[in-house]
Amino acid sequence: MIQWHNGIAQLTIPTPFAVGDVHIYLIKGERLTLVDTGPKTEEAWRSLLDQLNELELTPTDIEQIVLTHHHPDHAGLIECFDQATVWGAKETNRWLTRESSFMQDHDQFYRSLFQQVGLPSSYFILIDKMKVPLSMLGLRGLDGVLADQDGLPGEKGWTVIETPGHAQGHISLLRESDGILIGGDVLLDKVSSNPLVEPPHAEGEARPLSQLQYNASLERLLTLPITTVLPGHGPLVTDSHGLIQERLKKQHDRAMHVKELLAEKEMTAFDLCVLLFPAVYKEQLGLTLSETVAQLDYLLERKEIEEIKQTDGSIVYRALHITKGHVYE
Ligand SMILES: [Zn+2]
Repeated sequence: MIQWHNGIAQLTIPTPFAVGDVHIYLIKGERLTLVDTGPKTEEAWRSLLDQLNELELTPTDIEQIVLTHHHPDHAGLIECFDQATVWGAKETNRWLTRESSFMQDHDQFYRSLFQQVGLPSSYFILIDKMKVPLSMLGLRGLDGVLADQDGLPGEKGWTVIETPGHAQGHISLLRESDGILIGGDVLLDKVSSNPLVEPPHAEGEARPLSQLQYNASLERLLTLPITTVLPGHGPLVTDSHGLIQERLKKQHDRAMHVKELLAEKEMTAFDLCVLLFPAVYKEQLGLTLSETVAQLDYLLERKEIEEIKQTDGSIVYRALHITKGHVYE
């Protein structure tokens, strides 16, 4: 039974992804806004229609869509709402339009990244595999861009908070009157959100350091008067500040474990990935590599490790300042 709570209704849509169902949100105010849509699958569309029907709504009632980020489980069904205005962060648009120049840059970026991480060339086929989920992502550009501190168009009381890290164009929506944050995947109750490696915003720029961005996003949320996070997956988060502290600590501990491994032996990111995720790295190479690169970026930033460029283009990492009782305690 779907219900409105202070002008917000949570709908739950099935996805074919390991993460399971995705939550999307209707905001009823001056306009009817849908935040995220679910993936582009028949099953998701049917489920969305049923749930709208339960609220005595049809797709044409939806006047605008806000995307928290471009991932297919969130932004799949945008083509099904012709009449609605679609809003999102600037960086979301390149994934929604998928112009050939971007896709070429995309492939080139991952080819050179794979070389850097020391991935055996037999795995390079993964670049094509990584694009499979894009078939469940809508193909339609944004109608308008939302940036930090913008309001929700046509509505009072909502503020856009840029929360990059899990995706470059990740945004959340805060209602200050009651501290409700529609958070996309910025903070989930059961799983830590993966700081995915993405191509730079413009060709020639450096790769964005997703883990550092993500940590900064979490730190930022600590400064906001949040009472409840309405997440993209799983249960509501009521103690967001406690959970954020826990997530930041766990990530630090994970990184320091990586440093310990590097203190024993210098390794490439791929060597590390195999060591950290022996059971799943083959199946989930994109995700596990992102997670590994994230820890290395964090350690590099803190000058806990250094990188040594190899003649084949790969990078080997070495632990710095190893003293007994520091790394091994
Ligand atoms: Zn998601």
